[in-house]
Amino acid sequence: AGRGAGALRTTATHCPYCSLQCGMAVTAGDRPATLVPLDFPTNRGGLCSKGWSSTELLDHPERLTRPLVRAVPGDRTSPLVEASWDDALDRVVEAIERTQRTHGRDAVGCFGGGSLTNEQAYQFGKFARVALRTSAIDYNGRFCMSSAAGAANRAFGLDRGMPFPLSDIAGADVVVLVGSNPADTMPPAMRWFDAGRERGAQHIVVDPRRTATARSAALHLQPLPGTDLALANGLLHLAIAEGLVDEDYVAARTTGFAEVRDGVAAYWPDRVERITGVPVEQQRRTVFALARAAKAIVLTARGAEQHRSGTDTASAWINLALALGLPGRPGSGWGTVTGQGNGQGGREHGQKADQLPGYRSLADPAARAHVAAVWGVDPADLPMPGKSAFELLDALGTDGGVRTLLVLASNVAVSAPDARRVISRLRDLDFLVVSDFFLSQTAELADVVLPSAMWAEEAGTMTNLEGRVIRRRRALDPPAGVPDDLQLLATLAGRLGAGDRFSGDPETVFQELRRASAGGAADYSGISYERIDAEDGVFWPCPAPDHPGTPWLFTERFATPDGRARFVRVEHVEAHEPTDDEYPLVLTTGRVLAQYQSGTQTRRSRSLQLIAPTPRAELHPDLARRLGIAQDDVVELATRRGRARFHAQVTDSIRPDVVFAPFHWGGGSSANALTDPALDPTSKMPAFKVCAVAVARVGGP
Ligand code: SF4
Repeated sequence: AGRGAGALRTTATHCPYCSLQCGMAVTAGDRPATLVPLDFPTNRGGLCSKGWSSTELLDHPERLTRPLVRAVPGDRTSPLVEASWDDALDRVVEAIERTQRTHGRDAVGCFGGGSLTNEQAYQFGKFARVALRTSAIDYNGRFCMSSAAGAANRAFGLDRGMPFPLSDIAGADVVVLVGSNPADTMPPAMRWFDAGRERGAQHIVVDPRRTATARSAALHLQPLPGTDLALANGLLHLAIAEGLVDEDYVAARTTGFAEVRDGVAAYWPDRVERITGVPVEQQRRTVFALARAAKAIVLTARGAEQHRSGTDTASAWINLALALGLPGRPGSGWGTVTGQGNGQGGREHGQKADQLPGYRSLADPAARAHVAAVWGVDPADLPMPGKSAFELLDALGTDGGVRTLLVLASNVAVSAPDARRVISRLRDLDFLVVSDFFLSQTAELADVVLPSAMWAEEAGTMTNLEGRVIRRRRALDPPAGVPDDLQLLATLAGRLGAGDRFSGDPETVFQELRRASAGGAADYSGISYERIDAEDGVFWPCPAPDHPGTPWLFTERFATPDGRARFVRVEHVEAHEPTDDEYPLVLTTGRVLAQYQSGTQTRRSRSLQLIAPTPRAELHPDLARRLGIAQDDVVELATRRGRARFHAQVTDSIRPDVVFAPFHWGGGSSANALTDPALDPTSKMPAFKVCAVAVARVGGP
């Protein structure tokens, strides 16, 4: 039997997974919930296999419905056993108070996620700063969008993934996708690309793998991972040399071009070919196509951004777009394809180490005063910015580090780089609390596991990849007694003596978020639940109830003090971990169609398991032959940090010097046990997408 009011009820909401936030209608009541796609502006009736299967998990037998605690308190070798909410929360509050009494306020930390609703992300940031008064909070979006966000802020003074609606892609004559594979990660988005191609548009994909997206493109550039910056600088060099720069635009709307022009002088085409492997002729075709298009869009994603120089790489592509006069021009521009469902909203409202709601800086006295007034606290009591995600995790259990950690909506034991090191740090904690709806690999390590409501059982708002604020609506009741994370934080705040400042009601929290964001860069103050319902979502910034919202940013001016976009000079650097005799190949990681993030949900879906049941590492036939590896053999990938096993997928769609591993599995097939935690100095993004690896056959299929 299903859950709900008895009679069947249909509710319009959105897919729980990626940033496309496809619209769907969930029907629930006296039978298990079902769904149909909706004609929402991003998906227009389409869903991918993940979306179609999403209601399967609501009644999954492994759903957590009761808190779990260690049978012997303090002994994580003892089993997790069911407990009452009172017992579980008593243990949590006691651990928080004991840790802060002994080690100071910053010894209690919070780790959030890009799947939390805006209200939950806002409440989590406020909970850390007001109820715990700790600076130790960050979230898994640091591993996702931070490099693109850093580059957008540097260039435009504002970070909104796509500064234009997704549908603009259909009208662009040329689209360049760098390290992005929407055909596998968000297939319904391909309708906009397909519509463009049917009109004769030309799509160019930059990716070390010939992905499904690359196969559909007019041109596929296949650079060595970690060299996208050199490629972009090379394209700009060519644009300058060929007289393709939009001089009027550069003069009227930008600053800093002269320095960048000097910087790219050294990126002559054959040198760029040597660095990247992209032939000069392909470089020329790309830059001429972009420059001659009436409307052109450059999109970057994690393939370009998850590097130690990820921010600079995104800047290099923005420089190219600016030189060609694209950002802010109707139907053209640069954007980044957000990954997680609320990756955009999740980084706007304060669960980031350095940020207050509305994209305000925690270090800015005026921002602190504004938000403190909304929260009814003294600005002097707000902590200063804390450590970024990996830095926070890497200091767990150390002197000066976090000793009690509260994790919401994140599975860092699988998703963090150098995952075995992170698991070891989690074990070093005095106390770990995880809120989740399944026993994730991170939850397995916890002292207390708190069950939480799933997407269709909770309400709030999400902000999709376009900056469109939409509503997640409650389609059915959660299992008896299970709260959503908003209610959990309100309850915990109450037990910590700050309950009067926290609500568990999403709309009440949204009203407060509106006030906190008012006047900030991500201004939500004109957005209401009613408007979202009436308008298919509202694009921020929306500073007043009668403001129409802002689907297109930067049409008149950029969000910098002088209104001009800034060129930023950036240089190619060698990979942090060059290949050598011991580790002679390059490892890159990514997603597959039927799995999502750390797989906590999708690996439990029976229908998705049928599509992608085993982790498969891709290698080129030449490499496989040299190493004596056949299709489906078990191979071991080894890096300086660890080893992991996969089945071999022998395919000529990958470069012969590169190996690809999906990151959705943990344990013995944990791709992140291999990845390099070297951090981008600006964004603190780890170098997920490139490290040196050795491959060996260890068994047959
Ligand atoms: Fe869900 Fe993304 Fe698939 Fe749409 S594309 S159904 S939002 S996972």
